[in-house]
Amino acid sequence: MVKNKVLIAQKRAKMTEVRSVSVAIIGAGAGGIAAAIKLREAGIDSISIFEKENDLGGTWRDNTYPGLICDVPSHLYRYSFAPNPDWSRTFSPGSEIYKYVRGVAEEYDVEPLISYDSEVTRLEYIESRWHLHTNKGFQGEFDVVISAVGILHHPVYPDFEGLDSFAGDCFHSARWDHSMSLIGKRIGIIGTGSTAVQIVGAVVDDVEKLSLFQRTPQWVLGAPNAFYSDEDKARYRDEPGEMERAYNSLARTLNHGFAAAVVGENEEALMTMQAGCQQNLDENIHDDELRRKLTPDYSAGCKRLIVSDLFYPAISKPNAELVTESISRIEPDGIRTADGRLHELDVLVLATGFDPHRFLADSEVIGRDGQTLNSTWSEGNYAYKTICVPGFPNLFFLGGPNSPIGNFSYLLTAETQYSYIEQLISLLRNHTLAEVDPKPDVTDEFNRTLKKAIPKTVWASGCQSWYFDKFGNIGSWPWTFARFEEELAQPVLSDFQYRNC
Ligand code: NAP
Repeated sequence: MVKNKVLIAQKRAKMTEVRSVSVAIIGAGAGGIAAAIKLREAGIDSISIFEKENDLGGTWRDNTYPGLICDVPSHLYRYSFAPNPDWSRTFSPGSEIYKYVRGVAEEYDVEPLISYDSEVTRLEYIESRWHLHTNKGFQGEFDVVISAVGILHHPVYPDFEGLDSFAGDCFHSARWDHSMSLIGKRIGIIGTGSTAVQIVGAVVDDVEKLSLFQRTPQWVLGAPNAFYSDEDKARYRDEPGEMERAYNSLARTLNHGFAAAVVGENEEALMTMQAGCQQNLDENIHDDELRRKLTPDYSAGCKRLIVSDLFYPAISKPNAELVTESISRIEPDGIRTADGRLHELDVLVLATGFDPHRFLADSEVIGRDGQTLNSTWSEGNYAYKTICVPGFPNLFFLGGPNSPIGNFSYLLTAETQYSYIEQLISLLRNHTLAEVDPKPDVTDEFNRTLKKAIPKTVWASGCQSWYFDKFGNIGSWPWTFARFEEELAQPVLSDFQYRNC
């Protein structure tokens, strides 16, 4: 008892020495919610989350298309502080992940911190504080800003002649129109990424005709998506140690197998992945011509790997057609391909992906010396260890430039980045520092080393993908996930520059 009192007194005394800091978080997706929970746990009370939409959940709010499933195993896709024994399947449906993220936000009382429909339009660093403006006219000052704006967030709309003239329903996959029924309709889907593949598997039996417009074939791994039994769930609930062991085993397999393979550190795993995709194709596509059309001419893993055991059976159905002729234009009645054929459609889904390289491009972000983030990144985004940029003190990124964005758990990535950021914030709190940002030469050196590592990754082995930005740079972490965790375990204090209060 006495000992506890002493400890509490010591803690109070320590807390009084701590400078209070206010933190703005941009984005109420999975990353922003984790940051808010952890900041509060660290004793920071002044937290404001700005969310441009009217709900939390980020990608899991935006994507509601039929068949949406996370290709990261469920038990890996969780916050470390909120393991979930109740996942229904090996790979969870998007709606279940949305409920999970919302449930965690509710449990930790995060929602009162969120200002909805509030897009951050301007951030200006003036005298050690970020002056933040939103589209709603809010203006406030914060010591620290954490960008948690997400990666796969800005839909890419294709630029086809006549797209606006289409007479049926037309929408991007991330803006699914649930007011419309697909039953008995002729649906066209443009794209063959994870999204299109999942939609095909989910809707083929509902529609009269499905036409999938493929520009480039993709490798598909046919992992089954088994249901967890009630007994499994009860065991995980009653024996959390067992759930942790399941997590660790999945993490080992993914991070040391797949993740090491794609960065050129595990040749054998890469070959196993390639063989697994080829076997899936050979065993499930029986028509020679269709198999030829579906066979990529690049290595598995070059584009982000697709996981689905439904796609090949679905695209083989009599009412499905894989269209490989290029699209000439869109007409009111459908899609006209280069061979002159009109593919008549009632519904057109643009499963054409996202621009993952935008970050804060839509806001005006003005750094310490008046430079903007957009001008700093005018020849490509870069950061020091994915987290921060010289000249933009106390601005930290979750999912920043060159974050690991392969088939990983973004939740794990974001938590790893958050704990690094928290250590930088503690420098501000405990040492009465006004600002911290990475040294320019150290940042340059980090990015030179990073660029040298890119060519040995499978992403650079000869395909086009959303990993590339418009300058031809690959925006992913080119080393193992273990190295990511090592580099972000603790800041190297001499890599930063500081200013006292
Ligand atoms: P994506 O992988 O970028 O695929 C976009 C598709 O649209 C590609 O097939 C692309 O063809 C095609 N395309 C784009 N513009 C086109 C044009 N003008 N003409 C013809 N085709 C065009 O996008 P996504 O499928 O939405 O997936 C994005 C990422 O989201 C995935 O890689 C994955 O990381 C993530 N995702 C994850 C899950 C999950 O399970 N966690 C589910 C869905 C999505 P090209 O290949 O020729 O460029």
